[in-house]
Amino acid sequence: MKTNVTVQIYTGSFYAPDAHIDLTSLKAKFTKIYQKAHVECVMIGWNPNADISILKDFLKQHGTDVYLWLPVFSDWHEMAPLIGMDNLPVTQDYQAEKGERFEFGCPAHIKSIKNIKEIFEKKFRNDHYDGIFLDKIRFPSFISGLQPVLTCFCSYCRSLHGISEKIMTHGDENPLAITAYDRLHYHSEDKDIAQLFDYKAKVVTSSIADLHQYFREQGFKIGLDLFAPFLSWFVGQDYLSLAQYADFIKPMFYRETYAPAGLPYEIDKYATAFGDGLKMTEVRKRNLLNLLKTNEIDIDFINREIKDIRNQIGNVKLYAGIEVNYNEKIAPVKAPYIQENLKKMSGADGFAFSWDLCSTPDENLDAALECL
Ligand SMILES: [Zn+2]
Repeated sequence: MKTNVTVQIYTGSFYAPDAHIDLTSLKAKFTKIYQKAHVECVMIGWNPNADISILKDFLKQHGTDVYLWLPVFSDWHEMAPLIGMDNLPVTQDYQAEKGERFEFGCPAHIKSIKNIKEIFEKKFRNDHYDGIFLDKIRFPSFISGLQPVLTCFCSYCRSLHGISEKIMTHGDENPLAITAYDRLHYHSEDKDIAQLFDYKAKVVTSSIADLHQYFREQGFKIGLDLFAPFLSWFVGQDYLSLAQYADFIKPMFYRETYAPAGLPYEIDKYATAFGDGLKMTEVRKRNLLNLLKTNEIDIDFINREIKDIRNQIGNVKLYAGIEVNYNEKIAPVKAPYIQENLKKMSGADGFAFSWDLCSTPDENLDAALECL
């Protein structure tokens, strides 16, 4: 039986709408993929001006579903701002490649959910997709420091949670007072910290429940892009709750990406978000790995994560997100890494070839297909 895969194609962001998509090259790549794999779906987004109708027809002729890849709580103007404990909008200053933005709005606020529905109505309503792939369904991670993580205290959120706005961190080594990592969750012995992170997960889930209903009513299937479980608690993603609103989930197991959602990058950002010198950030990192009961984020650890997800989500499909694309600076992905993932990762229903087939060199794709 052929291996199941899903594939991502990045057509450019909403605010940089001039991306050129080489449809001939993409079709040639898919022709190769179809020989070795069953392509369950392709997630394409989110430049509303990209003309991909020929590619969509080609994919549908091969029985592949086409999903609209859409960022939800980031990348758009008109979001309700994320407010810190000081009552001010938090600064989020990450500069991304290719015009992608990583400033997050408040995922709880009714205005943010309304906004994403309006964008869909205005820009994508008539484009005939089979499904929707929801990305950035979360609060910010540590990429712009600690403050964006200790949110949200907007008036709307305050009315929902009533959490103390004087959250303190705890010493240097374990600033969030985490005592254990169990069933994809961290436990913090600080009541305020535990409550805040519980709240974040709860409101992300209820917003996704709302969007799930909205897109289901239009006959869409739904896929969710998720942080790796050991990072998900930090950003308000609860696998067990979110999975009930998905046909499939795609945890991002990006071990070679040094950019948001990339595992080494996010760990470094966690370690530096609490200040201090190089030595202390190393201690903090080591302490986190100890809590995860591993020496490094390797395939054995990822396989444990996949097993734990599987135990939580029942029959919802799980596609392990791995990079096949290449970017010299932030994703220097080469054949041996791709092959290690495909040969040794186990327990998923298939793989998501991330995060962009357009920027996947032939040697990377060929290396991946060799293992299927
Ligand atoms: Zn809020």
